[in-house]
This record gives sequence, structure tokens and C-alpha cells, in this order.
Amino acid sequence: MKSRRDLLKTVGAGMLLKLIPVGAYAADLVKFVDVRLWPADEYTRVTLEHAGAIKYKHFLIENPWRMVIDLLDLRLDSTLKELTSRLHPDDPYVQQIRVAQYDANTVRLVFDLKAEVKPEIFTIDPIAEYKNRFVVDFYPKKSVDPLLSLLDKSEDPAMREDEISRALRLAESETKGTDKSDKPEKPAVDKSSKTEVAKAQPNAPVEKKPSIEMKRMVTVAIDPGHGGEDPGAVGKGGTYEKNVVLAISKRLKAEIDKIPGMRAMLTRNGDFFVPLNTRVQKARSVNADLFVSVHADAFIRPTAGGSSVYVLSERGASSTAAKWIANKENASDLIGGVNIKGTDSQLAKVLLDLSTTAQINDSLKLGDAVLGNLGKVNRLHKPKVEQAGFAVLKAPDIPSILIETAFISNPEEEKKLANPAHQQELAEAIAQGIAKYFAKNPPVARTPLT
Ligand SMILES: [Zn+2]
Repeated sequence: MKSRRDLLKTVGAGMLLKLIPVGAYAADLVKFVDVRLWPADEYTRVTLEHAGAIKYKHFLIENPWRMVIDLLDLRLDSTLKELTSRLHPDDPYVQQIRVAQYDANTVRLVFDLKAEVKPEIFTIDPIAEYKNRFVVDFYPKKSVDPLLSLLDKSEDPAMREDEISRALRLAESETKGTDKSDKPEKPAVDKSSKTEVAKAQPNAPVEKKPSIEMKRMVTVAIDPGHGGEDPGAVGKGGTYEKNVVLAISKRLKAEIDKIPGMRAMLTRNGDFFVPLNTRVQKARSVNADLFVSVHADAFIRPTAGGSSVYVLSERGASSTAAKWIANKENASDLIGGVNIKGTDSQLAKVLLDLSTTAQINDSLKLGDAVLGNLGKVNRLHKPKVEQAGFAVLKAPDIPSILIETAFISNPEEEKKLANPAHQQELAEAIAQGIAKYFAKNPPVARTPLT
């Protein structure tokens, strides 16, 4: 499948030949390379990629809401003109885009907005395959609540946000009251029977189907890697990591939601960029019990293959390959385009400082359970859970793992990753691994750090 970028290059080149006399831009570096739009409920991003650095001025106008951006010392070209037709009719924030040469040296962009927004405008220096990027993010005035993604667990589609909140409060108070309320009913309760999974025992008296009895609703944060400007690894056959991991993650959510007492939320549910820190914050804002980041990575050797599971390391990485993978995954913010002005370095530091041995130990147990199950549907890259300094695994209070489902750089595995039946197998294996972990490590009341 041809990427948007390749497609645009072809279209762009054709238009360029038609509209601009040969040689007109020969010595001209001030040229747009690509324009992209990433509409999502959370925010819509507009990216203008340019050969040189962009200087700009901007202002918001009310009644109706419009964002005006003047790009200075620039001429309108055919690539930039493409921006207007790139707008998706369902874009949550942008109604229409107008582009014109305002005066001899200024290109004016006008974004007609559907409602009042909180815009963020910034530039990103060239990195990886990208040249200079000029970015406009349209955020809603009131940010999207990650709790809303838990709505899907409800059987009743009409269940509202306030009902979810009530259910969460109830779950929380049930947890707090566990000791008192349980004793009269089950005097003989011991630790091991708090959570029970009916194993394949012939005499299992109570449960017919395997199920987990939870003291409270367990929430799993599923984190599909990459997204938007950050494609992740790209296979030789044109498969994007960001797309396959989203597909697997959605299936994983569906599998977890089927397990009684468990529900899942996604840190992203579409093709848009989410900073690493935001992924962790989202998990914490729903008091997630687990954080599971889903990836499909690449290696220099196309023969490298198999599934791997990683957890955070307090000290060094457990192998050179683990370190290499962690560095690649941690580059996501730079490639995806994080607004440096907007990052909360204080929070990032707190998360970093509080990483605990306890979290890592729990993560290792979770990793073992998941890796064992992945071994049933795919070969394993390494027989053991590996460790390295993954930025996305640094929630101090949530057991966190990063799964490299397979190597997208391996042609055989790339094909399998793109296959819905195999995506489903992977999702089921991971979900069962998670259930296995909870069977052995029942969720307990936690004191949130916030
Ligand atoms: Zn990845």
C-alpha cells in the first residue's frame, strides 16, 4: 500500500510541473515538502513540512471562531494548496481551511473552526526523515476525558459518563471496605482464595467457565505505540507499526472487556500522536492496574523475529538489543512531534524519581505470564522478559510492560502482523496472559499517588 506521503509526492510533483515553469524554483529552498492533517477527538494536528525554517505570526478571532496564521517570507505553492482538500469533513475542530498569498511575502492560512479551541503552535527541527515541521494543534476548550473510553465496557450503550464515575466510586469504596464486609460472609477467606480462577481441575466445584472473581473492577490501560506523525517501524511490504498495533490493541481491549471484572481503556483510539508522558498520565487518570504498551518493531537484520516482552530497568539494559529497542521507542516523542514548550518536565521528573523496585517486580511477573502465552501463538525472540529504560513504562505505581508482538522488519512476520486472524490470536494470548497474572496476583486496594 502506498503511503500518504508517497502518494502526495507523486501528485505534488505532477502539479508542480503543470503550474510552475521549470527553473522558477531552481535555487529556491523555501518549498513545502508535504502537508498533513491528523484529525482526532482529542485534538486535530496540522503539519506543514518545509525545506527551510518557517517564521510565523498568528491570532484567534471570535464570532465565528477562526485561527489566522501568517507564514512570513514565503510564496504559496501547490503543495501548500493541497492543505484545503486534505481536511476531513468529520474533523472535530476544523470546518474549513483557506490558503492565499496575502501580500508579496506572506502566505495567510485561515482555519474556520467548529468551536472555540485551545491552539498550540510550534515548530520542530528536522529529525529522522522529516524536514522542518510547522505544527498547529487544535485542542478542545475542555479536554477529552479518558474515562469516556471505558464506556465501551457497558452493555448498555446509553450508560452515561456520570454513571461511569459513580461505578468507579462504588468500585473504589468496595475496595476500601473489603476487610470489614468480607469477614461475616466468608470467614475462612485467605489470601490465595481472594481471587480464584477455576483451573482445569476435574473436581472444580463452583465455576463451570474460567473466570476471575475480582474484589473490584480491574482496569487495564492498553497503549498502542506510535501514531500520527510517528509511524513507528515500517515493513518492506509497506505495513506501518502504528496501524497494526492499533488493530491488535482494539482486539485486546475487546478480549479484556469480555473477562468478568475486567475492563480496558486505550491511550489512543485513532491515528494521532500521543506523547509518551501523556500515555502514562492517561493510565494514571483512570487508576489503571496495569499498563500494556503494544508494539511491532524492526531490526537491522530482516531475519530477526519472534515476540518479546520488556519491562523497565532501574539500572542498565539487560542486553544491547533491549537498549537499542528502548532508544528507538523513546525517540517517539521527537519523531511524533512533542511540543517542548508544553511538556511538564516537573511531572516527568517525579515519574522518573519514583520508579520502584516493587513496580518492576510486579511488571516482571506480568511480563512472564504474557510472554508464556505469546509463545503459544508465535515463536519467542528471547525466552525471558528483558529490561531497559523505556520512558513509557515509568509509572511508579502501575505494573507496566511493553510487548513487541513481532518484527515488522521480518517479511514473514510482517505478513502475519497484517493478518486479522493473527492479530486476534495475539490479542487473545495477551489477554489470557493478563488474566493469568491477576489470578496469581489479585488486585489490592492501592493508594493513588495523585
Ligand atoms: Zn514501537
